[in-house]
Amino acid sequence: MISLSKIYDLAPIWLQNVMVTAAGYRNNRTRYGLAYYEYKKFLKVFDTLPLSKKLEHQRLELVRFIRHARDNSEFYKKSYKDIDVNAIQSLEDIKRLPIVDKEMLRINANEVFTITREDAIEGHTGGTTGKSLVVLMTPDDMMKRMAMLDHFKERVGFKHRSMRRATFNGKHIVPPAQKKKVFWRYNHACKQMIYSSFHITEKNAGYYVKSLNSFKPHALDGFFTCMIDIANYIERKNIKLDFRPVGIFPTSETLTDSGRDLLEKVFNCKVYDQYASSEGAPFVTECKDQRLHIELASGFFEYFQEGSSNEILVTSFTTHGTPLIRYRIGDSMVLSKEDNVCSCGMHTPLVESIRGRELDFLYTAEGAKVNAGNVANLFKNMPNALIRAQTRQEELGQILVLLEVDKEAYKQEYDDLLRDEFLHKFGSDTQVFIEHVDEIPRERSGKFRMVKNLVPGE
Ligand SMILES: [Zn+2]
Repeated sequence: MISLSKIYDLAPIWLQNVMVTAAGYRNNRTRYGLAYYEYKKFLKVFDTLPLSKKLEHQRLELVRFIRHARDNSEFYKKSYKDIDVNAIQSLEDIKRLPIVDKEMLRINANEVFTITREDAIEGHTGGTTGKSLVVLMTPDDMMKRMAMLDHFKERVGFKHRSMRRATFNGKHIVPPAQKKKVFWRYNHACKQMIYSSFHITEKNAGYYVKSLNSFKPHALDGFFTCMIDIANYIERKNIKLDFRPVGIFPTSETLTDSGRDLLEKVFNCKVYDQYASSEGAPFVTECKDQRLHIELASGFFEYFQEGSSNEILVTSFTTHGTPLIRYRIGDSMVLSKEDNVCSCGMHTPLVESIRGRELDFLYTAEGAKVNAGNVANLFKNMPNALIRAQTRQEELGQILVLLEVDKEAYKQEYDDLLRDEFLHKFGSDTQVFIEHVDEIPRERSGKFRMVKNLVPGE
């Protein structure tokens, strides 16, 4: 039997657009039902409540959610068997419950799930370590999560499904044999142009920009590094844009300051960061004044260990199918110490910074870690001739920098500039090798890794 993806690959582009749209409408059915509209209405009201009322709502949800897990999940029933769950009444009390990590969920998946696969929307979470986890989501939770995301964008002026969006994601929408320079497909169901993240090369980038200029999206979303590549190209070639988005909403990759600055400059609009995750973590979103707010209706964050590190545990109220309670998700967050007042008028706890899994880093010769954000900053002062860069490390004391450059604009001495930046950061004990390549490949997921740490043991 011919698979659906085979049929897709053989179809002409117009028919592929129809197929993408059909899939879009199918998705909409599971995303935009009654629970979606009701929850969105609720969130609008919730935003206007004073902090004390929001916290009380969060507390009640927490109490309710823990009981749900105990009553419906074999796994939680067992792990809470010696705990008086009914006595847990506050955010503080939750510390009596055991911490759960990804491996525990993976091994015990069938006992963790409270619903069957037939009744669920399946989610997969990968992560750079290669460990994968399947989560089962209830349709209602899925809709609530969509409502939360759309609500966050609406606060800053983007209306989902009535405005156009350009999405850069890891979907394989361009068949391998395609000759035409059409690296996007249109999902009419969401007014969404989906751009392939696998074909953004120096040769193709111009086609992407042309398409964007004719599509005139109100928002850009998806992989941060893809948008950076495009923005970089637009800036280097000095191309005039015929549209100005309402906002840019990157997902899935950790943002860098330099990348954010570039996007804001090139597209002439603000970038709004968000924290969510495929396993269903609670949300943290940026407001119109670009501060990170904890979405109190979505769950609860606490530190894994008080004081020493910023690693967090999450308890998420939209994970009824695969409950996450005190889940060690692997991310870090710095909660703001200031009073929780933001100039935007929304009253919630604020987050200073979010760091994704702390896996992306390089070592100094002495073995100290330099995280990806700091590595990205080393390229900040480079002249405008870099297309893409990747740093790789296979052993301490050595760093390989792969560069994809604009050959017309790049001068050989830029290598020395860059080497200098690296030596300042990593110390002169580190040897820095710079290699020029035609193209730096993306990962199989479609994401781009700027930092690849291949030191044994990592
Ligand atoms: Zn704010």
